[in-house]
Amino acid sequence: MGDISLFELKNIIGNKKLILSMQKSIAQKKNFHSYIIHGKKNSGKLFLANCFAKFILCQNEKKNNDACENCYSCHSFEEKNNPDVIYVKPTKTNFIGVDDIREQVKEKANIKPYVCEYKIFILEDADKMTVQAQNALLKILEEPPSFVIFFLLGDEKKNFLPTIVSRCAVLKTDLIDLGQIKNYLIENYREKDKNLIDVCCNYSGGNLGQALILLNDENFFALREKIIDFMISLKKNDLALAINFVREFEIQKENIDLIFDIIYFWYADLFFYCQTNDVLQLKNLDKIEQIKKTCVLCDAGILYKKLKSVEKAKIYLDYNVNFKLNLTGFLIDLFLD
Ligand SMILES: [Zn+2]
Repeated sequence: MGDISLFELKNIIGNKKLILSMQKSIAQKKNFHSYIIHGKKNSGKLFLANCFAKFILCQNEKKNNDACENCYSCHSFEEKNNPDVIYVKPTKTNFIGVDDIREQVKEKANIKPYVCEYKIFILEDADKMTVQAQNALLKILEEPPSFVIFFLLGDEKKNFLPTIVSRCAVLKTDLIDLGQIKNYLIENYREKDKNLIDVCCNYSGGNLGQALILLNDENFFALREKIIDFMISLKKNDLALAINFVREFEIQKENIDLIFDIIYFWYADLFFYCQTNDVLQLKNLDKIEQIKKTCVLCDAGILYKKLKSVEKAKIYLDYNVNFKLNLTGFLIDLFLD
């Protein structure tokens, strides 16, 4: 494996615009004290924050526009014990609460940095903080000590209070070109099967972090096998099988997005192959034979309808519709061909 873990600006893939505006802000010390980095889950928000925090804290002159890797700050940052970077963590619930802001931010923000010029607070899932917690944080953002810098990370900018947003430089992560993700994975995971790398790229939706998680997740490949087998064996009116499926996957609730992605890409592949006979664009590149075989028995119109049902189910998912209800409704949709 390459230097994947090093938080260096040169190791950031894509996100050129974000890097440029960040570098400008740091060089000019403009909007310098609080940043929001928002974007899709696993799109690299924490990695970006770490790279910039390390860069800002580096104790040497930044000649090459990157952290030096030689100073105490750079070393301790990589070893996760730099005393001047604070990762604010939730202690009582799943997300940072008002007590966490009081104890981990307010009490520490007024204490000068120990070794570096600045003190940096990084808050993951800051968009999921309660209004109370955000308001407590706002008070600090309004008059931050000159040495304090905040990185607030979150999936959705709209979940931050407007008053918080107005105090921050707002940066959004980019989706990364799939070709770039593929090159990165091939370069850094030489031992992995090329077809599986392709599958992970295709499932990543342009989020490198997602591709990395999938590539290293045995459960993903096992889950995909199971679901595709089920989709192949699914026959009209076999309600018993469908109910078994729902039961089985209820224990995989936390993977529901992935389950629907797998179903979606399966039907997308079938539909695409049915229409074009082109294998190069398929998402499940390791399943070409099964796709060809299954397509013989399929009708493009019906596949299109199924694809639409999956899309609909995915939208309901975003609205937090009950897992069992959604999956059952979706399977009934599938049977109505
Ligand atoms: Zn350094």
